[in-house]
Amino acid sequence: MVSYKELGLVNTREMFAKAVKGGYAIPAFNFNNMEQLQAIIKAAAETHSPVILQVSSGARKYANQTLLRYMAQGAVEYAKELGWEHPQIALHLDHGNSFELCKSCVDFGFSSVMIDASALPYEENIALTRQVVEYAHQFDVTVEAELGVLAGVEDEVVAEESHYTKPEEVIDFATRTGCDSLAISIGTSHGAYKFTPEQCTRDPKTGRLVPPPLAVDVLDEIMKKLPGFPIVLHGSSSVPQEYVDIINANGGKLPDAVGIPEEQLRKAAKSAVCKINIDSDSRLAFTAAVRKVFAEKPGEFDPRKYCGPARDEMERLYVHKIKEVLGSDGKAD
Ligand SMILES: [Zn+2]
Repeated sequence: MVSYKELGLVNTREMFAKAVKGGYAIPAFNFNNMEQLQAIIKAAAETHSPVILQVSSGARKYANQTLLRYMAQGAVEYAKELGWEHPQIALHLDHGNSFELCKSCVDFGFSSVMIDASALPYEENIALTRQVVEYAHQFDVTVEAELGVLAGVEDEVVAEESHYTKPEEVIDFATRTGCDSLAISIGTSHGAYKFTPEQCTRDPKTGRLVPPPLAVDVLDEIMKKLPGFPIVLHGSSSVPQEYVDIINANGGKLPDAVGIPEEQLRKAAKSAVCKINIDSDSRLAFTAAVRKVFAEKPGEFDPRKYCGPARDEMERLYVHKIKEVLGSDGKAD
């Protein structure tokens, strides 16, 4: 058993309380490898933004759980080296689907876990979430739960259709589970294909898809029921079209990839939404940069020569999200 406190990490309680009060959101960036971690930490240190390093169970398998723990610890030390005196970095399990997985993450140094039992019937969701909360809170680890179902594909999380969170359930759910934050479904979606062309309209000038708006009325209802309670948005990548264009122009094939417009996320960040999950956008940034190098320099075979530019592009993306979308810059001083 290793406590996240020994690794220099923090849980999400204080960062969320401040974010809700301050009208901004904390970035939750998924990571799988060293370059992504470097980019996240550099962006957070440079902007003095609290940050959540997010790991899915797929990422945990990919990177190895022991290595991950030391990477998180290394991230804290790296942040200090970059001049960030008191780094506010959380290590969070994304979409934990069982008590055992959540427990294992708590025992391995995570400071926050998500138990996603949203696909289960309501009472079973409550029971499993409650069980995880009871275990995690003994070690001061915070717990995110989910009500409602997001469409899309993310690692092992797949749902064909979305079901909006029912505002009439949130008080009962939050009270009975004791969860620290709640992921809701209001029309965001996992992956780089958040909506089918049929769900969108098409901009006649550019020919690009325009996605349907988020269900802001559902969010408002939830905030009325649970004033000040930390709300989480999953599936909130914007799928920047410049990356999609670079990928498609350099041998890739991502037709009609579409995300959530940043304007909508900017508004959400000002509300009780205090954690916004971004994964696909950094995958796109990475892939666009790598494809560009390969297209321009077919003879390149030193991974540093294409992973390096990919890392720089991800860092630019993270800084942009922190400053221009979430508003969390300068909040970790
Ligand atoms: Zn998610």
